[in-house]
Amino acid sequence: MNTDKNYPEERKMRLDSLFEALSVVGEDTHVYLCDMIYDYSRWSKSLVDVFGLPSEYMFEAGAIWETHIHPEDKRTYHDGIDAIFSGKAQGHDMQYRARKKDGEYDVCTCRGIVITDEYGQPEYFGGAIRNHGEQSHIDNLTGLRNQYGFFEDVENCIRNKTEIRICMIGIGKLTELNAVYGYGFGNAVLQRFGRYLMDHVGNRGGTYRLDGSKYAVITQTQSEKEIKKTYERIRKYFRSGVQIEDRFVSLELNSGALALDEFNTDTQTIYSCLNFAYDDSKVSKHGDLVEFAGSITGRNMRNIETLHMIRNSISQGFNGFYLLYQPIMDASTERITGAEALLRWSNLEYGTIPPDEFIPLLERDPKFPLLGEWILRRAIRTAKKMLEKIPDFVINVNISYAQLEKPDFTDLIWMILRELDFPPEQLCLEITERCRLLDMDLIRNVVVTLRAGGVRVALDDFGTGFSSVGLIKDIPVDSIKIDRSFVINIEADEQESKLVKCFTEVASLFGAKVCVEGIETAAMRDILRKYNVNSFQGYFYSRPIEDEKLYERLNEELKPR
Ligand code: C2E
Ligand code: CA
Ligand code: CA
Repeated sequence: MNTDKNYPEERKMRLDSLFEALSVVGEDTHVYLCDMIYDYSRWSKSLVDVFGLPSEYMFEAGAIWETHIHPEDKRTYHDGIDAIFSGKAQGHDMQYRARKKDGEYDVCTCRGIVITDEYGQPEYFGGAIRNHGEQSHIDNLTGLRNQYGFFEDVENCIRNKTEIRICMIGIGKLTELNAVYGYGFGNAVLQRFGRYLMDHVGNRGGTYRLDGSKYAVITQTQSEKEIKKTYERIRKYFRSGVQIEDRFVSLELNSGALALDEFNTDTQTIYSCLNFAYDDSKVSKHGDLVEFAGSITGRNMRNIETLHMIRNSISQGFNGFYLLYQPIMDASTERITGAEALLRWSNLEYGTIPPDEFIPLLERDPKFPLLGEWILRRAIRTAKKMLEKIPDFVINVNISYAQLEKPDFTDLIWMILRELDFPPEQLCLEITERCRLLDMDLIRNVVVTLRAGGVRVALDDFGTGFSSVGLIKDIPVDSIKIDRSFVINIEADEQESKLVKCFTEVASLFGAKVCVEGIETAAMRDILRKYNVNSFQGYFYSRPIEDEKLYERLNEELKPR
């Protein structure tokens, strides 16, 4: 077997100095140099790392490399190398796919030439390999690394357990700028912003352009405080107005940040958490930087790790997820008219995590719609059983805005209803305040289409957001659900009961029915009965229960009183 010892020391020095020279010329490419007399090569460390080669120094590197070439490209590669070593060719320029350490293939362009000795005999073969896989991670518009580059870098930090801070910064109202001044101007804004961000982060971190108007900065050296300061500086600069093309515009920014110091996670989870902090900054903090950890309010949401576990359950056959059902009562007869399906997740190690501690974080996850579909099918199957007992039973299912925004959402609903042979009138979809993150026209279209097909729509958590009243004006729903927070103190607080009365009046103005959530006592019920309330839901009647329990309760109800 060949070992490095078979390679003379003085030739190695020559190889190294030629290699160094090549590397300088090579710049953003990876270089290789082969001493053809000994078939001994030196390859760039970057190639060795990315493609998992045995070492920077290799005997018969060509044959080793060939094992990395995609089967369909092997023939061309082999013939090319043969031609070089047999003296038939003086150089080559070829493209092939090469397998990286992670098993994926990247498209590479390989250019090389033969260097002859003073007698014209081939002595060295050297050149450069350009990995297009890496270069495709560049955003065309800004020249920054793009979302894929971002994911790749975060992935590397997770793998190498490198502690970093990530900050997501976005330009608010870019859609409006595009609409008013045209896409060309919008692009100029994006370029300017990217350039500025890069200049002001400089060598303290990497700058990325993610999707749309969002950017990210990854830094290893800056503290939370320093990041905040840098962000405030950038924010002030753009708020006070910048000259772009022939216009002077002021830009508002939003920002979310998190520290990656816990490595049992994945990039998508990190991305979801960042987006969550970002949305919080945008929706409720007027663009102030929101640190992710600070925004987790949940008792059990210990860290990103829990979310990671939950997220993985989606791909593991939804293992750990189940639904409970909370009965909804007719306000006057106090009989069950339907139930709301409520999601749960639990596992031995983490216990049960309430849905509002993970759903808002997962909503943006590409896997979330899958979970949404699972919930719908599950809930409808259960409801079918209940329909045998009560023919007008209505099942309420919570829909997240991320499901609603999918272009094929209504088609999916029709498909599931047909597949499970379920009457559309017995399904009620609850949409929440968080929908205001979406385009109003889009929500209205979806709601109108659903209702035209017979499906009912309820506006959940009515009153909690500043735009509730506006929402009901723009979006024609069947019913509103008044949030629990408005009735908690209704027995003691007269203001509260006036507010609820006011909500019921708004609802009837728009022809919507009213359900009040969070009924915990008979006294609450009695106060609310004075108003135009159609149904009640709350612990006073029942906590969320298993489907078998619900079935039993329906049986009970059917017995004559
Ligand atoms: P929500 O839609 O407002 O659901 C009502 C929540 O109030 C439920 O909490 C329910 O258990 C609780 N609740 C009901 N009556 C009472 C009461 O009398 N007193 C008190 N203190 N609480 C009561 P839960 O199940 O923890 O759900 C929390 C939120 O998680 C839901 O709020 C909903 O926004 C979200 N969620 C739950 N399941 C799903 C789902 O399948 N999909 C989506 N997208 N979101 C869901
Ligand atoms: Ca609900
Ligand atoms: Ca609610």
